Order: sequence, then C-alpha cells, then structure tokens
Amino acid sequence: MPIQLLPPEVASQIAAGEVVERPASVVKELLENSLDAAASHIVINVEGGGQRLVEVSDDGNGILEGEIAMAVERHGTSKLTSAEDLFQISTLGFRGEALASIGSVSRMTLTSRSPDSEVGASIRVEGGALGPVQRIGVPVGTVVQVEDLFYNLPARRKFLKRETTERRVIDEMVTRYALSYPGVRIHLRQDGRISLQTGGKGDRREVLASLYGFEIARQMLEVLALEDDLGIHGFISPPSLTRSNRREIVLFVNSRPVQDITLVTAVLKAYHTYLMTGRYPMAVLFLEIPLGEVDVNVHPTKAEVRFRDPDKVFTGLQRAVRRALLAHTPVSGFNVQMRWSPDQASSMFQSTSGFPGDPLSFSHENKSSEENQSAVVIPSGLRPQQITQPPSLGTPILRLVGQIASTYLVAEGPDGLYLIDQHAAHERVLYEKFMSQRTAAGKSPLPSQALLQPVTIELTIASARLIEEQLRLLSDLGFEIDQFGRSTFLVRAIPELLAGRDPAQALRVLVEDFEEDETPLQNEAEARIVARICKRLAVKAGQALSAEEQYALVHDLEACQQPRNCPHGRPTMIHLSVDLLERQFGRRGAR
Ligand code: ADP
Ligand code: MG
Repeated sequence: MPIQLLPPEVASQIAAGEVVERPASVVKELLENSLDAAASHIVINVEGGGQRLVEVSDDGNGILEGEIAMAVERHGTSKLTSAEDLFQISTLGFRGEALASIGSVSRMTLTSRSPDSEVGASIRVEGGALGPVQRIGVPVGTVVQVEDLFYNLPARRKFLKRETTERRVIDEMVTRYALSYPGVRIHLRQDGRISLQTGGKGDRREVLASLYGFEIARQMLEVLALEDDLGIHGFISPPSLTRSNRREIVLFVNSRPVQDITLVTAVLKAYHTYLMTGRYPMAVLFLEIPLGEVDVNVHPTKAEVRFRDPDKVFTGLQRAVRRALLAHTPVSGFNVQMRWSPDQASSMFQSTSGFPGDPLSFSHENKSSEENQSAVVIPSGLRPQQITQPPSLGTPILRLVGQIASTYLVAEGPDGLYLIDQHAAHERVLYEKFMSQRTAAGKSPLPSQALLQPVTIELTIASARLIEEQLRLLSDLGFEIDQFGRSTFLVRAIPELLAGRDPAQALRVLVEDFEEDETPLQNEAEARIVARICKRLAVKAGQALSAEEQYALVHDLEACQQPRNCPHGRPTMIHLSVDLLERQFGRRGAR
C-alpha cells in the first residue's frame, strides 16, 4: 500500500480511542470540565452504564456563543496557550481533546451559557460532524449530553464491559472526584437512582462518611504533613481496618486522582509490619506539590503523572503515613522471639497443653529429652485412634498426630507424614459442604437460619452495587437480605451452614475481593462467592484447635472430593513420604 494521510475522521477516531476508552472516561472528562469551570453544583445522569446516556450539567462559568464551536474541535482549549504552560497546569484538563474525542464517537450536544451572556448557545456533534450553533435560552452553566457512545464503532462496542461493571467503575471514579472537591455538590444518578450525593460543605470527613459509611469514616486516621514544599493530607485506615486488595488506596496529586504504583507502594511500606500479608490499608491521600515539580502530560487520560524528584515524594509520603500510624497506634510490646532449645522444650510443651475448655488436655509422655525436641504436641487421648470411615478417592487414611504452631496438623498416612494447613483444609471442607448442599437443594434455596436480631451493614457505594448484583444468588445460598437506601443492608437470615458465624463478616467478604473488571458467569460467581465465604469463616492459622476439632477437621477433609487443594487452589497438605524421610535421614540412597 502506498503511504497516504489518513482521512480526518479516521485520524480523529484513532485519537479518540486514547481518551475515550470506555463510558466511564466520558463521565470523567465531563466532570473534570465542570470542575475546571468552577462549578459549585454538578449533576451527572448516567443510563445504561453510560453507553446510552451520559449527561453532565453544571453551574460553572460556561462558554461564550462565539467559542462554543471551538470547544468541540480538537485542540480547542481555554486552559493552555503555550508549551511552557504545560509545566504550570492548575486545571484538570489542558489537552483540548475531550469534547472533540467524545463528539467523534457519539451523538453529543453541548449547551452552555456564560454569566456574561443573555442567552446560551448549543451545538450538536454526531460522529465528529458538527451541526450549526443555535441560540437557546438556558440558565448559566453547561450541559453536555452524550448519547449512544460508540454507535459508529461497532467493533469497539464489542469490547465494552458489562453494564454493571461500568456502573461500578463510574461510581468509583465519581467518588474520587467528590473526595477531592468536597466544596462542590456532586449528584450522580444512574438509571434514575441516586448513587452518590455530596453536600458541598467542604468537609472531607463528611464526604468520606457519605461514601464509605459513617463507621469507617469515624475510624479513619488523619494525615497532615508538610515537608519543604510537599504537603500531604488525607485519611488512612488504622491497622485494624483492612481490605483484601489495594484498590482502596486512592491518591491525588494537586487534586487530580492519579494511578501511581510507586506512591501506592510508599503507603504500603509505611504499613510494613502493621498488617498481615495479604491485607491492605484504605487510604485517601492528597499530595500538594508545586506545579512545576510535576508533569501531568504523560498520558492521554491524564491518570499518570511524573515527578521531578520522585524519591522525595516517595519518602515524604511514606514518612507522613508512618507518622500518622505511630501517632494513633500504641507502640506494641517487645517482639519476643522464641528460640528453641532443648531445655525450653519441655516447658513449652507444658505451656501449650491444656487449652481452656479443651476436654482432652494435651500432655507429653515421658520421653527422653531427645524426643522432647520434637515440636509436635501430641494429644494423648487421640493417639490410638484410627479414622474408621472409608476414605473417598484421593485421600489417604490419616491418623492424627497433633497440631503444630497452632497452624498445621500433623498426620500419619500409609505412606509417610502429612502436614495439613488447618485453614486451607477447613476452607475446603466448608466449601464442599456448601456446594453439596447446594446441589442437593436443586433450584430451591439453601436452608437458612433467621437471626434473632437482624444485622445492619453499611457498605461503600461500590460495594453496595456488588451486593445488589448478587442479591438473588445470595438468597439462593440462604441469605435473607433487604436493602435500605443506597448502601445499607439488613441481614435477616444467614445460611444454616454459617449458623453462629458473624453475618456482617460473611457479607463483607463477598465484596472485598471482587476484581474491578471481573465478569464471572453466574455459576462461576456462585462458586467464587461460596469460596470466599468459606475462606473467611474457616479457622485461621494461629488458632489453637481442641483435639476434637483437629480430629473432626482431618476426618472431614478425608471425606472431601478434592481434599488436596483449598477452593482457591492452595495446597491443603504437604506430604513427606517415607521414602523421602529415609533419604533425608541417610537410611537409603546416597549417603
Ligand atoms: P480541555 O478541558 O482539555 O481544555 P475539552 O475538550 O475538555 O478540553 O474542553 C474544551 C474547552 O471547552 C475547555 O477548555 C473549556 O473552555 C470549554 N468547556 C468544556 N466544558 C466546559 C464546561 N462544563 N464549562 C465551561 N467550559 C467548558
Ligand atoms: Mg476537559
């Protein structure tokens, strides 16, 4: 093919692809424009996950009739005049691309009136084609309506996420701007329902409460630090309030929400040793840095920034968070490192024996001191027992030996030693019980147990959406949940299998781990939800189990169809074969 210049429509659609990745990008760009226009009240209406309609109205400073056509042209901007300005950007927008890009892949109407004009003006753009500018009587401010996004790009439409996913992403995104601009009243309505509403009173903690719920907002710790010209303020969760992913670490640079893996790492580092592995803090942190120190023109969607001195920002942030944590949490006691020595061995055996309430108190038998070095606690009452029930395929017959480190069970099988991870094993057991009940129940819901006292749970808006999406499935599983308002739920009953467990916790786990863009099939969703519930409810590592509990666990594990892995795929047991032991002890093979 000869080299030729692309027709302008094609070029503009290619460029649009960078800015408008998905419906949420439209919401983001329009919202940014309204914020740049110093609006005090912004109303966002979204239908069909943004694909059918995104409409953003504001009471900001509007556009003059003579400039409205330019606003929808590529590189039409009032926020930048020279290349040098790029390093003094104080607005969210500056590329002059958003309206042009959106207009080239949708049917867009821009209507605006500046306070200096008597009347407003309106222009329509369809697939990049500009209509005439029309005068129209409207209040001061701007309304942008974007309909049928990607109507002229069917290939693109195929790649869109499910509507529910998009709704959630939009919620989350608007939430971030609401946090960053507490002085602006922001209303977000999706398919006719209010999904977010802020008062615009300028109080960040109040915004935090309207977004995350009162309880979480109350617990969040305040960060306030100024080092040289780097200001850091915002909120972080105390070590007791954690999440299973890092998605709720939200960072802003000069009011702009940014995605920056190094900054997130700085926050995580500050929490080092405060959190268990696999748990993450929540954080909403605002970095204020001189405009010249940060390059915002790194990415078409402006989600990434570059710092002139990244190390300074990294250490500053880490220190600020660490200080806030130290100020709010009592210094923990000495971290006593227990060293294992033969002398201590016997006394340690004593101290672990006889858990409160344990009918079979643990004792070690008279052994030589050599034997005492073994770390295995032997529940004497159990030693002679054999598991009588015939095992299902894939599991050896196990004889329980005991528990070590309050985390692993030791068992002897026909071919050597088995170390069982009690948490993973219990997860598997619960999971299979759940699923087999589910199969047995057919189409009818699982038996549930009503709570004496219904439990109220307050969730973030995004989490509430997740629960909403799965309400039917949850009721099939035996939950009875009513929704109150936007993000409050009342749990009336929980699955019988979970009787006695904390219903709030059971529900919370469901929403915590959902990956942003997962679109599971319904039956996968069920298995995943069940797996997640089981994970949370299973006994934890570090939890001392009574001899009976240990026994029951091994027994139940044997009855499982896939006893060797937890529902998340981690192994439940490690096998040390007699053969391996013999080699290790030099009884066999190379000496
Ligand atoms: P940018 O925001 O990068 O300048 P846009 O394409 O988003 O580019 O917008 C083009 C111009 O249209 C803006 O520079 C601004 O002057 C004007 N504009 C867009 N939206 C609004 C609004 N809601 N209120 C006032 N002016 C607006
Ligand atoms: Mg813009």
